[in-house]
Amino acid sequence: MRRSTLDPRLKTPREERPMASKRRQDDENRPRVGVSTCLLGENVRYNGGHARDRFLTDTFGRFVEWVPVCPEVETGLGVPREPVHLIGDPEDPSLVFVNSGGDVTARMKRWAKKRLKELEGEDLVGFIFKSRSPSSGMQRIKVFDEKGMPHKVGVGIWARAFMDHFPLIPAEDEGRLNDPVLRENFIERVFCLQRYREAMRPRRSRGALVGFHAGHKLQIMAHSPSIAKEMGRVVAHAKGRSIADVSAEYEELLMKALKMKATTGKNANVLQHALGYFKGVLTPDEKKEMLQVIEDYRTGLLPLVVPVTLVSHYVRKYDEPYLALQTYLAPHPTELKLRNHA
Ligand code: SF4
Repeated sequence: MRRSTLDPRLKTPREERPMASKRRQDDENRPRVGVSTCLLGENVRYNGGHARDRFLTDTFGRFVEWVPVCPEVETGLGVPREPVHLIGDPEDPSLVFVNSGGDVTARMKRWAKKRLKELEGEDLVGFIFKSRSPSSGMQRIKVFDEKGMPHKVGVGIWARAFMDHFPLIPAEDEGRLNDPVLRENFIERVFCLQRYREAMRPRRSRGALVGFHAGHKLQIMAHSPSIAKEMGRVVAHAKGRSIADVSAEYEELLMKALKMKATTGKNANVLQHALGYFKGVLTPDEKKEMLQVIEDYRTGLLPLVVPVTLVSHYVRKYDEPYLALQTYLAPHPTELKLRNHA
């Protein structure tokens, strides 16, 4: 199982790493996220430089374990190297050196096939690609036509191979992650897929699926109430079907649902739904305050973190068992401050 060739901290295969301290144990439970190596600050770009992304290295990186991949270096193109670009059919472009014109498409595709096999054993729950790269970019990559004119319609050779091979693994690029909505959505999917994998480990079972679904109901509803219902039906009718089929269908629906935007309206509906669990429990003042906070969130006066914090407070105060299970109240680490924007 090969890891990065560049950072010694990331070299040791998972099963060989010692479990000497609590810190290491924590590391073992972190979501493993693939990343374009240059985004971590490694000098692997064609010009010998890097493209460090501070949010990834200094913030998100504290909560995940990176699995870096640099297709151009790992294909053996060297550093520094002549830059490459895409030419020809946008659906199946060729990767060629910009000046000499040498074609490295076949070489990169051969390497990608091997690397994807290795990554199957890495338990990835996300991948962050470098934007604008003809190898690593996941969207709107320049493809040059026969007249030498660029069209921003392509996908990098590696990014396309990865997304075709792992269609359910959340993928984004660092540019899109600057958008707070896309950032929260991607990170939420990463942590949710990690929890799903953990719930299904070491053995997939109907009981594990029922437990997972019960705890994620509100979170899924905030993205898609209709898919949440469909998932409920899959769980309810799991008996008599193979657990492999059921869990695969469930995982596909889970990722499809979470990819949908959790809008202000959908979040407000989920908060109202949560309020229903406090019927006859909250004092009239508490209920009035809760309704006002939800309304202020709905109209954009308050960020989502405010009503969610208030619900969490009442869950603790009144010991509400169903809501206490709900990942909706804490789908990702609070320190990432993903729900703090109004
Ligand atoms: S964009 Fe991709 S190929 Fe280019 S340096 Fe970064 S990781 Fe390597």
